[in-house]
Amino acid sequence: MSKRDYYEVLGVAKDTSERDLKKAYRRMAMKYHPDKNPDDAEAESKFKEVSEAYEVLSDADKRQAYDRFGHAGVDQRQGGGFGGGANNFSDIFGDVFGDIFGGAQGGGGRTRARRGADLRYPLDLDLEEAVRGVTKEIKIRAQVNCNTCDGSGAKKGTTPDTCGTCKGAGQVRMSQGFFSVQQTCPVCHGAGQVVKDPCGDCHGQGVTQEVKTLSVKIPAGVDTGDRIRLAGEGEAGGNGGPAGDLYVQVEVREHAIFQRDGRNLYCDVPISFADASLGGELEVPTLDGRVKLKIPAETQTGKLFRLRGKGVSSVRGGGPGDLMCRVVVETPVNLSKRQKELLEEFQQTLEDSESKNQSPQKTTWFEGVKNFFEDMKF
Ligand SMILES: [Zn+2]
Ligand SMILES: [Zn+2]
Repeated sequence: MSKRDYYEVLGVAKDTSERDLKKAYRRMAMKYHPDKNPDDAEAESKFKEVSEAYEVLSDADKRQAYDRFGHAGVDQRQGGGFGGGANNFSDIFGDVFGDIFGGAQGGGGRTRARRGADLRYPLDLDLEEAVRGVTKEIKIRAQVNCNTCDGSGAKKGTTPDTCGTCKGAGQVRMSQGFFSVQQTCPVCHGAGQVVKDPCGDCHGQGVTQEVKTLSVKIPAGVDTGDRIRLAGEGEAGGNGGPAGDLYVQVEVREHAIFQRDGRNLYCDVPISFADASLGGELEVPTLDGRVKLKIPAETQTGKLFRLRGKGVSSVRGGGPGDLMCRVVVETPVNLSKRQKELLEEFQQTLEDSESKNQSPQKTTWFEGVKNFFEDMKF
């Protein structure tokens, strides 16, 4: 395989300065570093290529040899490597790799166990279910360890072989002359094992997509936005890592009668104009039955009545809240002739006794309007 020109690899001109060379390398190394491109063979070979190019061009002697003789002038195999005289190794290592590795070098080179991904499941509940608690069956699609091979990826009756390239470590130390960089083994992708005879069910992956049915216990008092965590019910982990978690995200549906605000419930109670005027008692629903609500005489529309303790409990505790009933006085419709006559008669009695101020809101409003017009000088 013929090698690409080192200057071309780094994307710099032949007469580039040492400083620009370093900048170019830094940019490329960050882009193609194996830790940033796990399991990407192309990035890995680019990273090697870039590192090799920089190794040569950053050394004045080697650069000169390369400029004169090309690759033949600096070929490592013939030159026996560039082990010595790495004068700029430490500073380039410091600023090129410091931020990639974040100082977290080491770890003994053991196979890296990977935690499985968390999953989210939106769950719609009725208000009653949310308030009382319920057990729901949910179906989720998730990666699970393959049953056939027990997650190993190897055909039943066989076991995976230890990877010969990394000797099972999952990591290889890649030497580019004076560079020595630990990276994920390109053969086993960090697993430390290779499967010669893959399991037919998971195609050697060790995991399969499966629809899992789970029974989820929803505690009483949950509300929209609450999450229930099911530890270990997310995606399967890799290389023996733990599975992720499943988060069930509660969304409470709108209720025909009640609106919920935390531990309080609100409901509208329509009453007739006569009931509102004369007062009376009526039954209002609660989530677990009914309760009597006393309407005093001369109740105005929109008035809120609080029924203590008839709200709901929260999953966070604190006892039940209140039920707030808002009275809505309804105008009667489909009036008969007789009813109209009675209302007209009734209206006449109101007008005859204007001084008694039987419609205080109306009186106040008309006075306000009158003052407004006077101020406007109509
Ligand atoms: Zn399998
Ligand atoms: Zn390996």
